[in-house]
Amino acid sequence: MKTEVFISGGGIGGLTLALKLAKRGIDVVVAEKLPGETPVYKGELLQPKSMQVFEGLGLDSEIRSFANEIRVLDLLELSSSLQVKDRSFMDYSVLPGKFNRAFMIRHEQLKSIIRNAALQYPHFHYFSGTACKELTESKAVLQLGKDKTEVEARYFFGAEGRASVTRKAMGISVKAAEYNHHFLTVTFPRRPDFTDGRIISTYNRFLGLFPLPDNEVRSVYLISPGEYKQLKEKPVEYFHKMYTDLAPSVNGYVQQITSWKKIQLMIPIQYHASSYVKGNKAIIGDAAHAVHPMAGEGMNMAIQDADILGELAADMITSGHTDPENLHWYEKVRYSRAAYVLGLSHLSALAYSFPYKPVSYLRRRTFERMEEDQFLHYKQMLNISGMGIWKENARDRLIQSGVLPRRKRGPTLDMKERNLFAKEDDYPWKEEGLT
Ligand SMILES: Cc1cc2nc3c(=O)[nH]c(=O)nc-3n(C[C@H](O)[C@H](O)[C@H](O)COP(=O)(O)OP(=O)(O)OC[C@H]3O[C@@H](n4cnc5c(N)ncnc54)[C@H](O)[C@@H]3O)c2cc1C
Repeated sequence: MKTEVFISGGGIGGLTLALKLAKRGIDVVVAEKLPGETPVYKGELLQPKSMQVFEGLGLDSEIRSFANEIRVLDLLELSSSLQVKDRSFMDYSVLPGKFNRAFMIRHEQLKSIIRNAALQYPHFHYFSGTACKELTESKAVLQLGKDKTEVEARYFFGAEGRASVTRKAMGISVKAAEYNHHFLTVTFPRRPDFTDGRIISTYNRFLGLFPLPDNEVRSVYLISPGEYKQLKEKPVEYFHKMYTDLAPSVNGYVQQITSWKKIQLMIPIQYHASSYVKGNKAIIGDAAHAVHPMAGEGMNMAIQDADILGELAADMITSGHTDPENLHWYEKVRYSRAAYVLGLSHLSALAYSFPYKPVSYLRRRTFERMEEDQFLHYKQMLNISGMGIWKENARDRLIQSGVLPRRKRGPTLDMKERNLFAKEDDYPWKEEGLT
């Protein structure tokens, strides 16, 4: 079989990339190892930039109809006696323009929306239950059951997640860093009026609640490494109490989890491949980087990689500038952005990683300051949204730590807009030209 672009992995990243190419009339083959839905929880929070990408693909209204809108993340810090000590907000509506909110959508639902859109195109070929075993310069070796088949392509893109065959074929290895904590994660029913995100912490406990549509909520609860095994030996009521202690509003709902079997362990890791492109191959999403889930960025980074690489490859093929050297534009745009988000997520993880009262005090103070100082708040929301990057400077840090007073005014609309990514930032080769 021959195609223009072969994509290994039909997760969110691979499917978004394939749809971008198929929409531009490019023949694309996707091989997905799993025959059906993935049994593990994966990312479900769509940041504003991802919604902008999906608007470009004509999917935004369909996605909204299957999603729960998140305008605000409510941050509650409780005392040792579990009383609310501090409350602050992270408010997406400070972002200018229409992409000023996040959305929670079930991972498999999002995948099926993207896949169904791609299936409308006769030059989109999707092979499920088919693993990519090996890649050479010009071929991918696929395996379905006992049968092996080969696909010849001009470009090979790896979107297989953490264990990437493409990354291996490119000779790039990654070293994963682990954290001093793990998470329990599970979805259960919620009160209908609980629709915004909520993070509840004490000096040594953390619970994140992210409402999904259909009155469900996805939760993450921080535990120590090794604790999962011990917890599973306790009655499931012990788990219910861990949640209701911190969030009395889930009482009557979390009890609908009746077995530890539903509750999964999530082990956060972080790595960043040294490069994304080699010859006629490139990697995206978790194949290229793994990010701590605290800031809800993993799935969004995969979507944003797919947007840039898809636009670039489509431009290269449709304009006849097919020299693989041009693929480096993708790395040029995405590498530093991903590095920044990895750092941001790592810092957010550290804020909740150490079970000591002084750390909890610093965290409270930082969030208070972030809410009071409109520059700090805007920068935080912009940086997690993916719509732009506006790095913190020395003055910001001094305000955050309480050395300097908060600013009386916030950024003007012009200042806000100046830090959004423009088309020229996302797709610079369109101005500067392909070789
Ligand atoms: C267990 C787990 C829990 C997570 N939880 C969260 C979370 O709560 N919040 C968050 O923001 N992020 C979370 N993430 C991260 C987020 O889901 C990922 O960053 C995002 O899914 C990355 O998308 P991707 O398309 O790059 O990779 P993936 O979603 O991993 O998709 C890769 C696809 O490739 C397929 N594949 C693998 N190998 C091959 C092969 N050889 N041939 C063909 N197909 C192959 C896989 O079956 C899979 O469908 C989690 C990740 C994992 C692994």
